[in-house]
Amino acid sequence: MSSPPSRSTAIAALVCIALGMAATLWRFTPQAPQPVGSKGFSAEAAIEVLGRILADETPHPIGTPAQDAVRQRLMRELTEAGAEPEERRDFACSPLGACGWTNNIVVLLPGSRDGALMYSCHTDSAPSGPGASDDGAAVAIGVELVRHWVQTPHENSLIFLFDEGEETGLLGAVAFLERDPLAHRVAAVLNLEARGTAGISQMFETSADSSWMISAWIGHASYPFANSLSDLVYDTMPNYTDVTVWEWFGIPAANFALTENSQYYHTDMDTIENLDPSSLQSHGDNAWAMFEALGSVDLDHAPLGELMYFDVLGLVVPRWPAAWTPWLALGGFLLSAAAGWRGRKDLGLQSGFAAAGAWWLAILLSAAWAGGLVFTLQALSGQRDPWAAHGLPLAVGIGLGTLAIVGLIGALTKSVKNALTLTMAMLTAAFAVVLAVFVPAVAYLFAVPAAVAAVVSFSSPERGALAGLAVAVALWFPLLYALEVALGLDAAIALAAALALGLSFAIPLLAELPWQRVALVLPVAGLCAASTLLFPHYSDVVPERVYGQEVLSTGSEPVLENLALRASEDGWRLSGTLRSMRGASELILSIDERAGIDSLLLEASPVHDPQRDIAIVGVPPEGIRFEAVLVDPSVPWSFADRTRREDREKRPFTTVSWTGFEELVTGTAAPLPMAEASP
Ligand SMILES: [Zn+2]
Repeated sequence: MSSPPSRSTAIAALVCIALGMAATLWRFTPQAPQPVGSKGFSAEAAIEVLGRILADETPHPIGTPAQDAVRQRLMRELTEAGAEPEERRDFACSPLGACGWTNNIVVLLPGSRDGALMYSCHTDSAPSGPGASDDGAAVAIGVELVRHWVQTPHENSLIFLFDEGEETGLLGAVAFLERDPLAHRVAAVLNLEARGTAGISQMFETSADSSWMISAWIGHASYPFANSLSDLVYDTMPNYTDVTVWEWFGIPAANFALTENSQYYHTDMDTIENLDPSSLQSHGDNAWAMFEALGSVDLDHAPLGELMYFDVLGLVVPRWPAAWTPWLALGGFLLSAAAGWRGRKDLGLQSGFAAAGAWWLAILLSAAWAGGLVFTLQALSGQRDPWAAHGLPLAVGIGLGTLAIVGLIGALTKSVKNALTLTMAMLTAAFAVVLAVFVPAVAYLFAVPAAVAAVVSFSSPERGALAGLAVAVALWFPLLYALEVALGLDAAIALAAALALGLSFAIPLLAELPWQRVALVLPVAGLCAASTLLFPHYSDVVPERVYGQEVLSTGSEPVLENLALRASEDGWRLSGTLRSMRGASELILSIDERAGIDSLLLEASPVHDPQRDIAIVGVPPEGIRFEAVLVDPSVPWSFADRTRREDREKRPFTTVSWTGFEELVTGTAAPLPMAEASP
């Protein structure tokens, strides 16, 4: 029968899990916004700036009058902050298939060194909303940083880039690096972004060789939330930000983003009202700390090399050179092997199989449980995500169910309870060694709890398991929270499997609980998840998502003018102007591959991949000059001009095909021989 000390171990494990949840919620709660006139960054001051820049909060994508007005107001704010901002008008083509005129705003605050730390953010919004968080918050923070650093002595030069056209293929960043005279001085970049309007500001993307920046920043941030794993997660998502461009050009860069309330991202609800002031404070604090950390560091002699790092509830950030990871994991394994050797009288083939079996069973059953709940809810509601507005019942159902599964497996393996901790530590540590070689960024999640469990198990296996569980909970829970924010409950199966992994040291600890009562938790968890169906699918906070529709005017009037065609050594050289008769600021050009296009220049800028559709934004009334070299000029080009607006009705996308080249070739406008240059 169960003995009191063991029962109390189970209670200790449950308390540990509850504390882990509370600590995780605390970790993701941003600090209160600081009032105007505070010593460091003040979110309240930044909100006032943002209110003046966005004014009536009209969506302001690149090439619109609303965006011109936003830029004008930003210029005024920067001037009033004591800087001398400059506007740079450049044409750029991004490798992502867009071309266009962009107007970047650049502020240079010279230091005693030439090398510069750059702050970058984008001034344009998505067509669907005012972009108060994406990326207005960062623009306002930039103004506040300028105001502070204009008056603060610093050794490194500071560049503030407020670029335009991020939402349209990262145009502003490309234009800056290709054309701006200051570009060659940039030694490191801090970028601020948003994929939501709330939560803490998280470092979510870093470029190669940026570890030294992060390391310096950790020393200055009051709550350094950072994990080298986030970059791995981000890399698997099909997203691009300006940091993608800094990476292409090999500039060390770090990117912070707001990620919670992502249902507002790129919608008309990305307003100042929906931007959480505490999140703005967190965003600004991170940027402030980075500038304080790097204002005087010698950027020309920055130590390179990749680091592994993770924060423990934002309190400490253990970090080490990436190359050490396999050795640290191996060290963890040796510790667990030593603990296993000491307790070898308990170990045997049976306990080995039990540990391995328990581990996998917990993962598989938890995933199956979550999958079952998700599919049942989908089938009963007839909706893909019936939990969209009210996700808590499903989250609780998955969490409680997983915990019950872990408890039941514990009861199943009760006879080898002590051996289980030791074998599980060895198994986990061995898995960490394999991960350290193939996916080093995740190895610590297994190596650290296993090593701690092994060391403490020298005193008693129960204490070892409890220590392993405490560490695992502190490392895994924040990660699960961040993954849930990033991926939503659509990833319920993966989240449940990961939760089971994080709780694996609870298996021997929950062994003494009466299994009949533990089993009763499952129907309770199921009912809790089922209560999702009692809540409405959408709410005021989570409205039905309407994507910005790209609408083509039916009276589309794009024209090609001033055409000249001449033979050249590499084929036909065709030049002219592409323009919209009705003054639309966006043109789409699509050239059939049968034309055999070799090169395409727009405003003398080479288009990276002329075979695919090219979006040309910010088209001025006089049009865009083009020059192409192609094999067959009689193949028609398709092109269209378009205006964008938010529309609830889906409208067809029509394209105009233009066959004028044929006339050019066949004689209406006779091709000019190479010697006779076109007018
Ligand atoms: Zn953005």
